Amino acid sequence: AKRNGRNGFCFYDSSMTEAASKRFNLLEQLNQALKNDQFELYYQPQVNTETGRIVAAEALIRWNHPERGLLAPDQFIPYAEESGLIAPIGRWVIEQALRDISRWHAMGYTLPKVAVNFSTQQISDLIVAEVAEILQCSDADASSIEFEITESALMENPELSRKVLQALHQMGISLSIDDFGQGYSSLSYLKQFPISKLKIDRAFIRDLEVDENDRAITRAIIALGKSLKMTVIAEGVETENQLQFLKEEQCEELQGYLFSRPVPEEEFRRLMEKSSG
Ligand code: C2E
Ligand code: CA
Ligand code: CA
Ligand code: CA
Repeated sequence: AKRNGRNGFCFYDSSMTEAASKRFNLLEQLNQALKNDQFELYYQPQVNTETGRIVAAEALIRWNHPERGLLAPDQFIPYAEESGLIAPIGRWVIEQALRDISRWHAMGYTLPKVAVNFSTQQISDLIVAEVAEILQCSDADASSIEFEITESALMENPELSRKVLQALHQMGISLSIDDFGQGYSSLSYLKQFPISKLKIDRAFIRDLEVDENDRAITRAIIALGKSLKMTVIAEGVETENQLQFLKEEQCEELQGYLFSRPVPEEEFRRLMEKSSG
């Protein structure tokens, strides 16, 4: 593409306009998706390592695109984050998770927690009042949801993050660090946030069987979590060998394809039924 001093790229470069209009189109479609209720939450169980019972679930967004079918979050969440649309989409996710939790309660299912992913762009002063308002309109309790935030999202603005997370924590919402171990941050910051759970990044779990370093890191994270009185969960558990290792190391909770893929809400209810029965 041709460089131009001020804006970086010239408007008349045909490949750029194509990319730009594609992007514009996607944003337009995301707006439509919000209006037309095309998003859906899938749930993936989190199980207690000892009992194998479902103790929580992670809510993962999907987009039922009218032409392209079911889209995974990697295909649209980055654009939503870039464009600011993550705010209304994130709001929808929290509201939908609370609706599902209320429905489950009404049907007699009890699930301690649903974890909802929370982007950097959602960490703002505004979110606190917004979440309070959403909770007020819901039958479900603040303690029934948990926000998963990546280490790097927290460290983008530690001051603001601390303020926002404290406020959410005071509301009764629990907080979990996603993709833990991938970040560049020092461990000392951990004490400064009201965090109750560490989620070991999938990258470390993937190669447990072959990589001694990954085993060492996983052990260290489990020990760290224990000493800080946080729950430790491993994600991306796919094999019996990984399960065995994590059991021996007393990792408290597990999540991964070995137990279940993320599934639609009705299917998740069946999983809860089997788990309690
Ligand atoms: P994440 O938060 O790290 O979520 C875990 C991802 O790993 C999910 O992909 C899940 O389906 C996948 N996974 C679970 N178990 C296994 C396993 O055993 N093996 C392998 N290979 N993968 C496993 P998914 O649903 O495609 O989500 C991708 C990412 O999109 C998430 O990564 C999260 O960062 C983002 N995301 C999903 N839903 C939301 C949302 O509602 N809001 C925001 N802001 N981000 C979301
Ligand atoms: Ca997550
Ligand atoms: Ca993760
Ligand atoms: Ca991730």
